[in-house]
Amino acid sequence: MPYNSMMNPSKFIWHNNKLIDWETANTHVLTHALHYGSGVFEGIRAYETSTGPAIFKAKEHYERLLESCSAYDILCDFNVETLIEATVNLINKNQLPACYIRPIVFTDYGSIGIIPKDCTYSTVIAAWEWGSYLGDEGIEKGIRCKISEIMKTPSQAMPSTAKSCANYANSFLAKKRVINQGYDEAILLNQHGNVSEGPGENIFVIKENQITTPPISDDVLKGITRDTVIQLCQDLGYKIREKSIAPDELFESDECFFTGTAAEVTPIREINDKPIGNGKKGKLTHEIQRLYFDIVKGKNNNYKNWLTIC
Ligand code: PMP
Repeated sequence: MPYNSMMNPSKFIWHNNKLIDWETANTHVLTHALHYGSGVFEGIRAYETSTGPAIFKAKEHYERLLESCSAYDILCDFNVETLIEATVNLINKNQLPACYIRPIVFTDYGSIGIIPKDCTYSTVIAAWEWGSYLGDEGIEKGIRCKISEIMKTPSQAMPSTAKSCANYANSFLAKKRVINQGYDEAILLNQHGNVSEGPGENIFVIKENQITTPPISDDVLKGITRDTVIQLCQDLGYKIREKSIAPDELFESDECFFTGTAAEVTPIREINDKPIGNGKKGKLTHEIQRLYFDIVKGKNNNYKNWLTIC
């Protein structure tokens, strides 16, 4: 089977408490989640450290996964501890020094009505080697974004705090359109015209050393990297607040950056063809990015409790 260049298959996938071969980890074409998006998932990273692979904020990710399950009445048979243990074991069995981890809980095969009557649920964890989501050059030099004409789904329609598969039709559409126009990433506005987030990232804006990120009420996923960066900004002594952001504030800002497990801390150097600040990675962005990478790679002892060593 051909894999896209970003997918580097590993040997095993964890499926309902069993390790199966990557190649045989298939599902039926009438799986409920394939038709209706009735699944929830996570994106987690493990980084290479001097003491082995380390999962960043494993507990927070699996707690969010189970909260997403509750939001959609999707049943997961496993608790946070079991899921962490399974992930550690999977990374070791696959001999991955660093990886991206994709847990998913979904409504399986059995019924094709909207309300699944006889469906079972599957919990799957895959892990594979995956580089920078927005490219190494993006991490260093920053990326070019466009404000999307696709509106962020209002939380009254689909809760933004639950990481449901269905939410990503919105992300896919927004991202696809701006990529087709030659940009690297989309920025979505919510129904009130405020800046919400990227298709898979939270956004931060800096003006005169004041750091601002949209509140969760602006239809934002409560990103684990977002929470991390908020704490790091406080620890570094910067002013950080959660406040609605008008699109104009992006253009007037000194620096902007995205955060996310996949995107890590990625500077935004241009929005709608207009340079942000001097059009390069900003000074504060650089400082926050460096601290973040030191922490996830186990080089900062003050934050070791965020890591699960495999
Ligand atoms: N917003 C959306 C829509 C996302 O998909 C993600 C990625 N999970 C994020 C924000 C960032 O969240 P996290 O830092 O938890 O990866």
